[in-house]
Amino acid sequence: MTDKIQLTDAEWRERLSPDQYRVLRQGGTERAFTGAYEQNKAAGEYVCAGCGEPLFSSETKYNSGSGWPSYYQPLASDAVEELRDTSHGMVRVEVRCAKCEGHLGHVFPDGPQPTGLRYCINSASLDFKPKE
Ligand code: FE
Repeated sequence: MTDKIQLTDAEWRERLSPDQYRVLRQGGTERAFTGAYEQNKAAGEYVCAGCGEPLFSSETKYNSGSGWPSYYQPLASDAVEELRDTSHGMVRVEVRCAKCEGHLGHVFPDGPQPTGLRYCINSASLDFKPKE
């Protein structure tokens, strides 16, 4: 388990692009089918755009048709935190980076096997590291 990273709001604003800040630090959602990684099929790892923590692998990415990058599991069970989210009149499970607590997206119980889960993640919260 990695140590938490904590920065001030001003430090996050300086470190992140406006889109990254809006998603990671303000819980925003990018518009469907607009993110950089929705159609990315290359092999590699997706790390947190806020802190660099490895979060998802291309091996568990699949095309959900939702318009956002979708994975059926995180790289490690303790890489992400899952929290109940009742905003916007819905009951959902929010997914955050465990290290910097940045908002990533939500997890839904309609994914493929072997987990049956769909981690629906904003491209803006991720950086892709292609496999060497
Ligand atoms: Fe992070």
